[in-house]
Amino acid sequence: MSSSGALRLHPVDAAVAVDRDRAEAAVAELLEALGRDVSGEHLADTPRRVVDGLLELITPREFTATTFPNEDGYDDLVLVRDIPFTSVCEHHLLPFRGVAHVGYVPGPRLVGLSKLARIVEWYAHDLQVQERLTVRIADHLERQLEPAGVGVVMSAEHLCMSVRGVHAVGSRTETHVFRGAVAADDRLRRRFEASGS
Ligand code: ZN
Repeated sequence: MSSSGALRLHPVDAAVAVDRDRAEAAVAELLEALGRDVSGEHLADTPRRVVDGLLELITPREFTATTFPNEDGYDDLVLVRDIPFTSVCEHHLLPFRGVAHVGYVPGPRLVGLSKLARIVEWYAHDLQVQERLTVRIADHLERQLEPAGVGVVMSAEHLCMSVRGVHAVGSRTETHVFRGAVAADDRLRRRFEASGS
């Protein structure tokens, strides 16, 4: 895969099958079970809106992650900071959102800079936990680029922690994955950590 110039991403989970009608009926059922009258004007179309909203959050948008040969032998860190993302916590079905700092030390291939943001967006659109999301982005870069090193730092507010439960408003969860040259080199790692605040 790494030797081709373009990698067409396939759905995060090709086995996912969406049954819209069933999802809408389930939302209506949920509202009724919560004692709400779904026949009222405000709630009548809510099941459709809820399903639309959820699907938008968990359906990745296709793109082609173009790569280029590293002809000039660039061998230091390429780091894109503050890539915004929104994902959905699979424990509570509530969003978590924040920024990702994604970098790599190139091997034979470079990836278009905007594609780093696309890769974050791609993997963010799923039900998951932040730890897995961070690993998946790093895995993807390793697979596609065979880089000398990879780093992914994600910092996010989880609504399941801030608007309910412990009500830790403003708290942020940070996850880091450092591999290869980035894991081995303090100087490179610090460049991510400095960007993590
Ligand atoms: Zn949660």
